[in-house]
Amino acid sequence: METIKLIDDKQTDSDAGKRVHLLQLKYDEMEKWVQSIGQPKFRGKQIFTWLYQDRVNNIADMTNLPQKFREQLAEIATIDTMREVTRQVSTDGTIKWLWELYDGSTIETVLMRHDYGNSVCVSTQVGCRMGCTFCASTLGGLVRNLTGGEVVEQLLNVQRFLDQEAKGERVSSVVLMGSGEPMENYDESMRFIDIANDQNGLKIGARHITISTSGLVPAIKRLADEKRQITLAISLHATRDEIRSALMPINRRWGIAELLDACRYYIAETGRRVSFEYALVGGKNDDLAHARELADLLANIDCHVNLIPVNYVPERNYTRTPKDQIRAFVNELNRLGVNATVRREKGHDIAAACGQLRAEQGKI
Ligand code: SAH
Repeated sequence: METIKLIDDKQTDSDAGKRVHLLQLKYDEMEKWVQSIGQPKFRGKQIFTWLYQDRVNNIADMTNLPQKFREQLAEIATIDTMREVTRQVSTDGTIKWLWELYDGSTIETVLMRHDYGNSVCVSTQVGCRMGCTFCASTLGGLVRNLTGGEVVEQLLNVQRFLDQEAKGERVSSVVLMGSGEPMENYDESMRFIDIANDQNGLKIGARHITISTSGLVPAIKRLADEKRQITLAISLHATRDEIRSALMPINRRWGIAELLDACRYYIAETGRRVSFEYALVGGKNDDLAHARELADLLANIDCHVNLIPVNYVPERNYTRTPKDQIRAFVNELNRLGVNATVRREKGHDIAAACGQLRAEQGKI
């Protein structure tokens, strides 16, 4: 494990909040916006290409734009609103960034290197207010929503890193699984997805984008109605309401039955299978009786279950399920016809694994 402290005299652009963040605009909005400031529509495409294909850091480098227009743009708009504070590299190749935003808030982003490609985990909120008892992201509560542009910027920064350090390897998939509840910041999360997915943007295929939720039922239905082809992941973690409510306060609002109904609706409307995350928490939800209950609950749902041995969070003292018991749990699910695998943990040594992200310098 290695931590790189960036000795960087670049200051966060504290003015950024007042300027137009170019990464906030969808393609058609960019075309309209350039027209609103007296430019022909095609400048929108030119800017988009500079941002997402050439991935320039500076408006001055957009050399096919007239000099005068570049000067005007530099005054009223900005591309980069966040500063890299630290970059930590795990022994397994996972990299975690801590960014300082223009208002001084901080967030984390993770790059995971798999044999099948590069996957990026983005944050959607500074902090989180869901209150899940096993997760570090919620310890300080919610500070604020991120804008779609701030989520795009996380992704673009990681792609720029790969351009420089990994011979232009591409980000192949994105998960909205960093800090925050993306469904609570619905519009900005969708804005991010639209920009990441745009053919003139970073071209991340919808099926390679996963949005994870603790279970906001109305938002799941709304997403189903939009018929997007993205992957929906549900943080389920328990088979009985009393256990789930103790782990995840949101369950008191929408219980397991209602949540699973929303998932069935999502599958019916989109034709997509759903993923369920199930963190195995020692002694709470991890014996074979729970595996059987889980199989019963999911019997008629087209889904995949990701089992995650609960990750260490220093403020909590949950214990991990022993390896043999994890095996037995997954075998029991498979035996009962449930498609389930144990998620390979990444970045544990740099506190970059599920539930370990937070809005401050990482504690391990
Ligand atoms: N708020 C959304 C997005 C966060 S995704 C959601 O809850 O789905 C982060 C995933 O990591 C969620 O599935 C979350 O339940 C899980 N997680 C949180 N803390 C964890 C921990 N300590 N160990 C393992 N998984 C954890």
